[in-house]
Amino acid sequence: MSEPVSPEELVTAGERLAAESARFAALGWMRGTSGNLSLRLRDDPLRLAVTASGRDKGELRGEDVVLVDGAGAAVPEQPNPDQRPSAEAGLHARIAAVAGAGAVVHVHVLSPVLAAERWPDGVRLRDLEMLKGLGRSAHDDEMVVPVVPNSQDMRELGDAFEAGFDPATPALIVARHGLYVWGRDLAQARHRAECLEWLVSFRLAADR
Ligand SMILES: [Zn+2]
Repeated sequence: MSEPVSPEELVTAGERLAAESARFAALGWMRGTSGNLSLRLRDDPLRLAVTASGRDKGELRGEDVVLVDGAGAAVPEQPNPDQRPSAEAGLHARIAAVAGAGAVVHVHVLSPVLAAERWPDGVRLRDLEMLKGLGRSAHDDEMVVPVVPNSQDMRELGDAFEAGFDPATPALIVARHGLYVWGRDLAQARHRAECLEWLVSFRLAADR
C-alpha cells in the first residue's frame, strides 16, 4: 500500500493539469468544457488526479481536480469533496492500468473524429516524419490508430479499447466523439497528441 495522496499533492497535480488544459483549450481542442486530463499519482492502488467535470478548461485552478480510483470513481477520502469527476475518468483509469500510462489526455479535437468517420476500422498512418513523435519510425512502419464506437458506458468503451490495444500505439479514437492519447507524463502525452493531430490532418487532406 502506498501513502495516501495529501490535499497539497492533489492541488499541485491540479495546477499541472490546469496549465496543460489551458494549452489544449487555446488550440480549440477543449471547447465548451469538453475533454479531460489525468495524471497518475499512485500505482497500488491506482490513483489518478483528473480535471473536474463541468469547468471551462481554459480557466481551471489547482483546486479543480478530483482524485479517482482504478474505476474512475472519486475516492471516499476525497481531499476535494466539492468536485466531481467526469464519467470519462473511467476510461482514463482503464488506459492508465492497461497501458501503464503516467498521463492521459482526452480532447474533442475534430480531425481524428473526421478520420474515424472515413476509416471506422482504424486510421492507418505510414511514411511520415511526425510518426517519430509517437515513438514510431518515419519509414516502413505502419501505425493503425484504433477506432471504437462511442458509448456512455465506460466499461464498454474500456473493453473495446483493451481488445484493440497495441502497446506501440499510444492513442485511441472514439468515433463521433474525440481522441485519447497517453504517455509517461503530461508533456509527452501532449506532444504525442499534437503529432497525432498533424498526422491525421495530413491523411485527411492528402487521401481524398
Ligand atoms: Zn469526451
